[in-house]
Amino acid sequence: MALKSWPFKESDSLAKQLRNYDGVVRFETGFGPSGLPHIGTFAEVARTTWVRRAFEHITGKKTELIAFSDDMDGLRKVPLNMPNKEMLREHLGEPLSRIPDPFGCCESYSDHMNGKLREFLDRYEFDYRFQSSAEAYSRGDFDEGLRLILEKHDEIRDVVAPTLREENRKDWSPIMPICPKCGKVYTTRVLEVHPENGTVLMKCDKSFGDVHGCGHEGEVNVTGGNVKVGWKVDWALRWYSYGIHYEMYGKDLIESAKLSARICRILGGRPPVGLVYEMFLDENGEKISKSVGKGVTVDAWMEYAPLESLLYYIFQNPKKAKRLFFGMIPKVVDDYLAELKRYPTLAEEKKPDSAVWHVHGGNPPAYGSSITFSLINNLISGLGTDDEELLWTYLKKYDPQVEDYENVVRALVTRSLAFYRDFILPNKKYEKPDRNMRYLFEELRNELGDVSTDASAEDLQAIPFDIARRHDVDPKEFFKAIYGALLGQERGPRFGTFAKLMGRDKVLELIDKALA
Ligand SMILES: [Zn+2]
Repeated sequence: MALKSWPFKESDSLAKQLRNYDGVVRFETGFGPSGLPHIGTFAEVARTTWVRRAFEHITGKKTELIAFSDDMDGLRKVPLNMPNKEMLREHLGEPLSRIPDPFGCCESYSDHMNGKLREFLDRYEFDYRFQSSAEAYSRGDFDEGLRLILEKHDEIRDVVAPTLREENRKDWSPIMPICPKCGKVYTTRVLEVHPENGTVLMKCDKSFGDVHGCGHEGEVNVTGGNVKVGWKVDWALRWYSYGIHYEMYGKDLIESAKLSARICRILGGRPPVGLVYEMFLDENGEKISKSVGKGVTVDAWMEYAPLESLLYYIFQNPKKAKRLFFGMIPKVVDDYLAELKRYPTLAEEKKPDSAVWHVHGGNPPAYGSSITFSLINNLISGLGTDDEELLWTYLKKYDPQVEDYENVVRALVTRSLAFYRDFILPNKKYEKPDRNMRYLFEELRNELGDVSTDASAEDLQAIPFDIARRHDVDPKEFFKAIYGALLGQERGPRFGTFAKLMGRDKVLELIDKALA
């Protein structure tokens, strides 16, 4: 029976292409080291890893993931939040791998960023092979491809030129020489191509912004790291030289990928299979801009919730644009916990289709407790405490099973407290019950006082419900008033669950306080 989750569908189309291929199957993911790795980087590596694992699961073939850093790219502008801006300004237009590290600790600008990327990927235990573009060029990984590009220079130009603005067409070449005199790559242009020598004649006389070429003219070898190729060509060159079989990319790169695929074919290669994923949006549905650098980071998410819950969310249909903001954390964590809980009940052959199978590399941990992230948040709200031991005592009383998952739940408690402090507490607004509601609250107080201390959540839920009905009040309105008075929130947990969790006497205390 065919598995239906998207990583398996992806791996199916890849497997079809590779039916007669027995070598190592190569997955690639790209990274632009002008800035720090962000959530988009994380999501792309995670998603590629899921396809990779699904592919291995189905085919048993050997695979590897190359994390490629485009550190031959030039610096176009001085990024915000970067030290030594004056120094960087002097190096505008030079490849990132040749610019000094503004932080002063690594060999170069891109060494610093590459280090951050690796640290980032290692921290989340991704399995990958790192490859720097600068190293690849100078080591000769692309030599054969570069010579081919010279031979097919005009053919490639004819494919790319129509996609460029009129004024850029005349001077365009797939080859971007690095000026041997001033070191800049964005100020040079190719005057002549000499495939027979493996060289180009270049001149450094272009400008971008207020950066100007130095005027140098001369012949340069295309091998040995003296040139790079323009970025769509670069993608194609990588696919061709490394024999990349699979690479996914964001919707914003569809046109670039099409062009790269055509160039890859001109070189005689076969472009990879790949998923086109949608972008992340912020709370208001606006595209998250990486240059602004606001929004959710992986580290920040981990402060409030388990990393796996973020992965679980990223896993959901990558072809749909997703909002990503802190307020969604309780729901995401609870969906994740519910799926963990459901997992053992799935038919054996359907398990690999579960998101948690992918998130946990085929081996999700057991979770059999009814404690949720929202429930812990409600408990913190109700008790108004940050005492982890006290919270734990309440949780144990509510669900004795929780002790089997002590590590998981204790970690949830710590994170709930952080979430409560940063996102719930600042928005609390206690609403005293108005005159009409007061009456209902008093009745609730009395009836709750009469109920036995081991009443079920269902019985407890029935009390305010019946009171509202009896007084011709919409139960929804009454519950809303209860949340406002007891928790200072517009929405809240099911009353019965909350009362059961807090204990009857604690709820009576809260009602008294609200009525006082
Ligand atoms: Zn120059």
